[in-house]
Amino acid sequence: MQTLKFAVLPGDYIGPEVMTEALRVLEHVARQEGFSLDYTVADVGGAGIDNHGKALPESTVAVCRGADAILFGSVGGPKWEKLPPNEQPERAALLPLRKAFNLFANIRPGLLYKDLVDASPLKPSRIPEGIDIVCIRELTGGIYFGQPKATETLPNGERQARDTMIYKTSEIERIAEVAARTALGRGRKVCSVDKANVLETSVLWRRTVSEYFARKHPGIALTHLYVDNAAMQLARDPNQFDVLFTENMFGDILSDEMAVICGSLGMLSSASLGAGKNSLGLPFGLYEPAGGTAPDIAGRNLANPCAQILSAALMLRYSFGLEQVAARIEAAVRKTVTVDGVRTGDIAFGRGSVGTDAMATAIIGNL
Ligand code: NAD
Repeated sequence: MQTLKFAVLPGDYIGPEVMTEALRVLEHVARQEGFSLDYTVADVGGAGIDNHGKALPESTVAVCRGADAILFGSVGGPKWEKLPPNEQPERAALLPLRKAFNLFANIRPGLLYKDLVDASPLKPSRIPEGIDIVCIRELTGGIYFGQPKATETLPNGERQARDTMIYKTSEIERIAEVAARTALGRGRKVCSVDKANVLETSVLWRRTVSEYFARKHPGIALTHLYVDNAAMQLARDPNQFDVLFTENMFGDILSDEMAVICGSLGMLSSASLGAGKNSLGLPFGLYEPAGGTAPDIAGRNLANPCAQILSAALMLRYSFGLEQVAARIEAAVRKTVTVDGVRTGDIAFGRGSVGTDAMATAIIGNL
């Protein structure tokens, strides 16, 4: 019997609420499919600060190191907002986790079911069938991490700050490979986004991507867009894309634009894959909803658990190689929300809504 060993980091506010439901779904499919779960729950974010004095306690890192994947909730909220920026839950937990596990590839499915087009700020006529694309963001390089990074005072007393954008071909090639593999499982189309008309790093990015795909993936249709145009195209006609991939800062912005056009944050999952392999020889990864801790609805059984449940499905796919089980969970979520019309408040649009637990129960029913 296969045992799935993973760390569970629920975090704050709605994090533990939706995590409870994702674990219930995982336990259900494990019983059905004949595998077992071996997971350890650990504090992170505000819970880490409150219980251990740190957003990412060493004990939590140790739990993650002993696991094959991390199922993450979300962190932060008003309780910790007065802390210095470097100690705030998101910054002090997520950035070090990305660094510790070299999580270089952020994969965000931009999925909006046809029945939920009203959740999108786009006109329904632009997305009659909903949205189905994937955005891949390089997560450990570029201007967010490049050195030197400094603020200095010039001889005339004026202040000047600098950040440095750096990419190596090896960093570009490994994220290109993630984009290619994702496209091979979908529509075999990749659009690489850069600013090659202005930036040196983008000139290297575009040349490296073109050469890599010509060499390794000639069967994939590769196109390039400047980032300003990509942002417009995403709002104009998102489904022209299959897999969109880009560097860290452009991806930060484009992936959030994609989340907005896809409607409720309660439906959007994500995977961040590491450079290292887990004990199964598969990518180590961190799996989390795209949204935050939603303090406005926390503790009231109102949160939509779908994003967390879909993140658990991504974990089964990427870190445990259980493609069919992942696809079953995704199909069950889709059927529950669309065919059965079971909705939490964020996607109910005035019709009746159910609580967090009832939504998960309905999904389990469809499994
Ligand atoms: P948010 O994503 O928590 O909430 C934005 C809106 O979306 C709210 O109206 C919320 O109710 C709704 N929403 C989000 N998830 C939902 C769900 N599962 N079901 C139903 N509705 C949902 O963003 P925010 O309010 O800007 O941030 C709140 C806190 O979360 C902040 O402290 C922020 O730093 C933190 N945050 C954490 C992460 C993370 O852990 N990765 C990401 C984003 C924000």
